[in-house]
Amino acid sequence: MPRLEDKVVLLSGGASGIGAATARLVVREGGKAVLADRDEAKGRAIASELGAAAHFVLLDVAQEASWQAAVAAAVEKFGGLHGLLNAAGIGVRNDIESCTLKEYRRVNDINSLGTFLGCKASITAMRESGGGSIVNISSVLGLRGAAHAVAYSASKGAVRSLTKNVALHCAQMKYNIRCNSVHPGYIDTPMIAPRFDQNVENMTGRQFLEELHPLGRLGRPEEVANMILFLLSDESTFSTGSEFVCDGGLTA
Ligand code: NAD
Repeated sequence: MPRLEDKVVLLSGGASGIGAATARLVVREGGKAVLADRDEAKGRAIASELGAAAHFVLLDVAQEASWQAAVAAAVEKFGGLHGLLNAAGIGVRNDIESCTLKEYRRVNDINSLGTFLGCKASITAMRESGGGSIVNISSVLGLRGAAHAVAYSASKGAVRSLTKNVALHCAQMKYNIRCNSVHPGYIDTPMIAPRFDQNVENMTGRQFLEELHPLGRLGRPEEVANMILFLLSDESTFSTGSEFVCDGGLTA
């Protein structure tokens, strides 16, 4: 039995990495995937590969009007909204002394404010569809600090906290909308690929990142997508406001 039969899921960051892997799973499990991304060429290519159960919308997550248009497009195309994945994000390395105000704002506008706007824009459509599930991608760096990732880590900590507020509000209002955060370790996607060829402590950047995980390797986008699928589906109906870690043992 398909695990997302007839559920309509809007996915920010759907053109790449974790978002694209999740879009593929949504369609495989009988759902409708609305891929929303600022990368139109990649997003349209994946949507067309997935066929009639997928649709692409152009989205800049940092713009409220862009989110409202994306939600309206999802409802118009497939008749409702039952799931939201906030996966759009950027990874930037900087520390508290080198990070400029402009850079701090840019990272937080996309990763943190973008997730806030996505939740905000989706709630009415989800209520009108009978309820739903919101999944916000944070990071292991939303659970702990890192000297080299001040803006990113702060933005992901905000996503973790925002998730709990959204979950509690929706529970209190009896909207039948759940909201959880997912915290990946290092996942083999275009986001971290620029680090692979660097030299870190006499290793390639890739080996260095692999060794951070007790399982001795990077995660695959499909492994995170499987956790997201569980959260989007009715298999997780008693989970809300929680943190789901997918990190090969990194935080253990
Ligand atoms: P990715 O670079 O493969 O995909 C990110 C997508 O977000 C891209 O398609 C990009 O176009 C889109 N995007 C960026 N800014 C946007 C904007 N303003 N509006 C709309 N779309 C925008 O990266 P990924 O690894 O799949 O990352 C997905 C999420 O997972 C991110 O939130 C990231 O922070 C998080 N994450 C990734 C890792 C990792 O190691 N890859 C680890 C922990 C958390």
